[in-house]
Amino acid sequence: MGEFELIRQIFMPIARATASAGVLLGPGDDCAIQSLPPDTELAFSVDTLVEGVHFPRHYPPEYLGWRCLAVAASDLAAVGADPACFTLALTLPDSSEPWLSAMGMGLQEAADAFGLTLAGGDVTRGPLTITVQVHGTVPAGQAILRCGAQVGDVVCVSGTLGDASAALQWLDDPAPPAAARELLERYHHPKPRLLLGTMLRNRATAAIDISDGLLSDLSHILDASGVGAIIEEDSLPLSPALQALDPDKAKAHALDGGDDYELCFTLPPAQWDALKALAPDLTVIGRVIKEQGLWLAGQEGKRKVEAAGYDHFGTRE
Ligand code: ADP
Ligand code: MG
Repeated sequence: MGEFELIRQIFMPIARATASAGVLLGPGDDCAIQSLPPDTELAFSVDTLVEGVHFPRHYPPEYLGWRCLAVAASDLAAVGADPACFTLALTLPDSSEPWLSAMGMGLQEAADAFGLTLAGGDVTRGPLTITVQVHGTVPAGQAILRCGAQVGDVVCVSGTLGDASAALQWLDDPAPPAAARELLERYHHPKPRLLLGTMLRNRATAAIDISDGLLSDLSHILDASGVGAIIEEDSLPLSPALQALDPDKAKAHALDGGDDYELCFTLPPAQWDALKALAPDLTVIGRVIKEQGLWLAGQEGKRKVEAAGYDHFGTRE
């Protein structure tokens, strides 16, 4: 398939199937045009997935279609934006039609699930790389930033942590244990917490999505806010599947493992009851303190931790 043929056959139908009121002009012209509701601001973010770095070689294209949009949409969730639309820049080694149709199917499912319309894109030839730019809107002045955490806030997370990270060990396994499928599902189909993000507006003082690992991502909030935090190890939300399959490393996955795409946020304690009633899968894991740094309290007492999340250009021991 040629470049224009594949845009017409694979991507135009996705754009039409998920048309949204905000996109006045979708793929086919030199720019897309998006209208913003009055008194809103545009929140936008771009993410690139490179084969062999962010997903394994020969990764199933349906999963890739879902994942590329999910990881980008997660940043909208983290600032509390309402999803609007996205653009897709695809670099492909060839234009295999079965691969593209399958990738398009995963992308379509994700676009429907997240309420994001395909507004345009670009196709080039080269090593498999996918870049997604997502656009969302927030009521003016209400985006949740990383810099607002206050001493005395509780530190909260959504869902369970560590599942996707534990799943990595079975990613290339043709016959993973049945119970590992639940964990693998977390890796293949991350669910950005878009609705929760909007509920955090005017409640959370700071928020971030957990892409690199809890310690690493929470550290970004602490650095930006000029505060510290203490986390209770025993309060980490671990799924039954993770505890059953990898009990020795479950906590390590939850603290350092990436790819969960849950939200971590800080909240004035007075807000907790009302928010928990709206979103029952939230857990308080610690609190914000004046003393800088990130502390872990566990059975062996209290210790200061260094975040070991993923850093493309960092050196790791
Ligand atoms: P230009 O050369 O003007 O940048 P392109 O030839 O790159 O335009 O793209 C032509 C049209 O097709 C544009 O409207 C662009 O948004 C759309 N398009 C290109 N690639 C994709 C894609 N992967 N998904 C959706 N739309 C795409
Ligand atoms: Mg172009």
